Amino acid sequence: MADRVVTRTFKASIRNQTQVRPDLDSLAFAASKLWNVGRWHIQRIWDAIGHIPNHNELTSYLKRHERYRDLHSQSSQRVLQELAEAFNGWYASDDPDDNPPGYRKRGDEHPRSTVTFKQKGFKLDAEHGYVRLSKGRNLKEHRSDFVLCSYETRPDVDLAEVGSVQQVRAVWNGDDWELHFVCNVEIEHSDAPGEKTAGIDLGISNVAAVSIGDETLLYPGNAVKEDVHYFRHVEYGTEGDNGPSKKAEWARQKKDRRRKHSLHALTRDIVEQCADHDIGEIAVGHPKDIRDDAEWGRHGNKKIHDWPFDTIIDMIEYKAAERGISVQRVDEAGLRTSKTCCACGTKASPNRVERGLYVCGECGLVANADLNAAENMRATVTPNPEEDRSNGCLAQPAVRLFDKHTGVVAGREQVADCKP
Ligand SMILES: [Zn+2]
Repeated sequence: MADRVVTRTFKASIRNQTQVRPDLDSLAFAASKLWNVGRWHIQRIWDAIGHIPNHNELTSYLKRHERYRDLHSQSSQRVLQELAEAFNGWYASDDPDDNPPGYRKRGDEHPRSTVTFKQKGFKLDAEHGYVRLSKGRNLKEHRSDFVLCSYETRPDVDLAEVGSVQQVRAVWNGDDWELHFVCNVEIEHSDAPGEKTAGIDLGISNVAAVSIGDETLLYPGNAVKEDVHYFRHVEYGTEGDNGPSKKAEWARQKKDRRRKHSLHALTRDIVEQCADHDIGEIAVGHPKDIRDDAEWGRHGNKKIHDWPFDTIIDMIEYKAAERGISVQRVDEAGLRTSKTCCACGTKASPNRVERGLYVCGECGLVANADLNAAENMRATVTPNPEEDRSNGCLAQPAVRLFDKHTGVVAGREQVADCKP
């Protein structure tokens, strides 16, 4: 196992856009003004002595300038660094038609420059989805000394998970401000991914059932499900006449974060288990037919649409890619379904699946119903799935639970050795 570090940028939208816009606007205008001041100084020095000052020279010329103090010192440094880089690029270019970097001004207006916050200029609270961006000395007098942004990343990205955040960039996309988190991500990669295959069946009672053939894993949906029920109550219980109250909104966000966290822990464990078992390819399907699920069914089928199957698949795909494992999304319609016996291919009548147990009338297979479905998934990416299948394991999976106190997924008991 060799680790390497790569840089990744994760985009996020800003939830409290209206609140932070004036502050981010003034920082961005200040960045444009500083760029222009730097641009003017470069011109002056070039005209006088035929030398283009580099980034360090520019910084020492300008660090006492009023405009330099509009931004956090590291943010100002970054503006001048970009300017120096732009000049280097122009100077190194062989194309005589290339123009030197221009001023950032349109008429009397300054455009909104990207503002970069380095290590000392931001404070991230990934758990609650907040980031504090520091202002410069000049801009913090009247208001507070930082901009507090509530951000939202893509559902499959959790900044608490991805590694260390090196920089935060506030970027104006033409309509809104968005944040770009530049992270160092450690990638664990074995020399080559394994050659074995895995099948994953997603559901609600069991969030995931994984079949590796001669080993099986079951992930009961305990923690995720509790959250959904508890927070649904809070959410609708406090709604006033004017739409969701602040408390309801808080509950919604808290639910999202908790659910996201438990799904990350779950998918990370699935992918780690697969990597540990030399898996090179995973087949996973978006459930088309939700199987009989007495406990869940009582609350009505509508809730099933709330279930984050797509998010789970995205997370598995993303984490697997980092380990060189490929993921095949299998369209379950028209395939061997959960009603098909994974051992002999016989399609059982629905009443053969009882209390989560699959019993084949043809070959006598007794299996956990979800693992039977997972093994059918695995068969879509394996030419001879029976070669490494253990029917015993299909009935006796190792159960892995999400622990709310530690926030990780771990085995409930010693994994029984059920290899043939
Ligand atoms: Zn059978």
